[in-house]
Amino acid sequence: MADRTEPPHMPQLREHRTIHSGGEWREAVSGATREIIDPADGRPFAVVAEGDEKDTDLAVAAARAAFDEGAWPRTPAAERAALLYRVADLLVRDRERLGLLESRDAGKTLEEGRVDIDCVADAFRYFAGLVAAESSGRVVDAGSADVHSVVVHEPVGVCALITPWNYPLLQASWKIAPALAAGNSFVVKPSEITPLTTVALIDLLAEAGLPAGVANIVTGPGHTVGARLAEHPDVDLVSFTGGLVSGTKVAQAAAPTVKKVALELGGKNPNVVFADACATDEGFDTAVDQALNAAFIHSGQVCSAGSRLIVEESVRDRFVDELARRAGKIRLGRGTEDGVECGPLVSEQQRAKTEEYVASALAEGAVLRSGGRRPEPSPQRPGSGYFYEPTVLDRCHREMRVVREEVFGPVLTVETFRTEDEAVALANDTEYGLAGGVWTADAGRARRVASRLRHGTVWINDFHPYLPQAEWGGFGKSGVGRELGPAGLAEYREAKHVYQNLAPKPVRWFAG
Ligand code: NAD
Repeated sequence: MADRTEPPHMPQLREHRTIHSGGEWREAVSGATREIIDPADGRPFAVVAEGDEKDTDLAVAAARAAFDEGAWPRTPAAERAALLYRVADLLVRDRERLGLLESRDAGKTLEEGRVDIDCVADAFRYFAGLVAAESSGRVVDAGSADVHSVVVHEPVGVCALITPWNYPLLQASWKIAPALAAGNSFVVKPSEITPLTTVALIDLLAEAGLPAGVANIVTGPGHTVGARLAEHPDVDLVSFTGGLVSGTKVAQAAAPTVKKVALELGGKNPNVVFADACATDEGFDTAVDQALNAAFIHSGQVCSAGSRLIVEESVRDRFVDELARRAGKIRLGRGTEDGVECGPLVSEQQRAKTEEYVASALAEGAVLRSGGRRPEPSPQRPGSGYFYEPTVLDRCHREMRVVREEVFGPVLTVETFRTEDEAVALANDTEYGLAGGVWTADAGRARRVASRLRHGTVWINDFHPYLPQAEWGGFGKSGVGRELGPAGLAEYREAKHVYQNLAPKPVRWFAG
């Protein structure tokens, strides 16, 4: 069936000139461009510059000059904070425009796009408040009245910030806001398929008064722009969010220059439901509702998606029946259409990968309870879009690929347990360790299980919320380092111990 409507008001885009270095917008040195595809209909809706290593070198040189010779690293913390607060205000002003851009670029609903922009503004406000409240150093007791010893924290230097496509501006803000708060300059490389809101943010930083050269962006692919950033000798830190395979390459490329490396990688996140959580109708309804949200928000393209339901055997049948019924009713469509609850997958490649995982699960004995196919086209859902139905796979076990590997699509697997120990063992049986949830009415059990889970975030009777003031990151192969919270600022700093002898005299170690 034909697409009913064009999406509303196309955002204004600066065609082709999406590379920003040293305060100037320009095309790629090579002149190459890339079409940006709307995943709801598979059609291009914007064109950006396709940068490469040459563009990357120019951007790094601009960031280097801004850091080594510019005013920003020496700008007082209160002024840096004031700028970040101004950026947050500009994000609020442009919420509709940016929310729509994110919705079209990443295929999320318009409301999700708006919420993303709110969260981006929150990140800027949080890091502004954090640096504004700091003292300028920590005086250390050196054990002598003749010594003054203080530990100060200085910016790392030039930061390379590499981001994924699922939460394009949000993931960028978790890096850009603390990098700026700490006084660094940066080059950001957004995902080549969803660069538009990050391009827009660079304009807002300039509007807020950030000096030229501090914020630079190169749009382009990972294997050229991203790889060059990771290996570049003039880059002091690389912070990467994305998949395990690319993250490993970034760490390897960064090693010879011994730059600081932070990695936020994937997850295979358990959502553990004890029978006691379902003892009342209200408890049952909440646990089912949240299991759907955990697995299917943004079509499961969430690093912390609760894609492994681990449910107590005694309630499995009732739970999965209701889950499958509700999953089958999720309204798929273009994110800007009224009433749509879930958008498409971000690309044909992502849908093909999802289909391949579902096929392998069925071949390994999983039982399909809902979804498992492309939906029929409809007025809200062009046949050319990359839609896939929310899929529930029952009777799964830990040897299946679909249980072990990150699908990054709308696929929920179901496993069961009988004892608390078994539940914990299953939940920890992953090479990742990003996030996990536990549902129980027993407060003691909740705390016991939470303390045993080897995951960077644990939700008790909830799933997905995060707080800018609390660290985010993973155990195991989910990454290295933390974003958000005080540790998310510390990533962008070097500690320096300044030891001053107030009464110098010879030590006479050498008789000479
Ligand atoms: P990806 O690894 O394909 O790409 C991420 C970024 O890295 C992109 O900008 C890409 O161009 C770049 N890149 C690719 N190869 C590179 C290389 N060799 N050197 C340098 N850069 C390179 O990931 P994706 O498909 O965009 O995003 C999905 C992944 O991101 C999932 O695994 C998801 O779990 C993860 N993710 C993690 C978090 C978190 O907080 N831990 C948040 C969001 C997404």
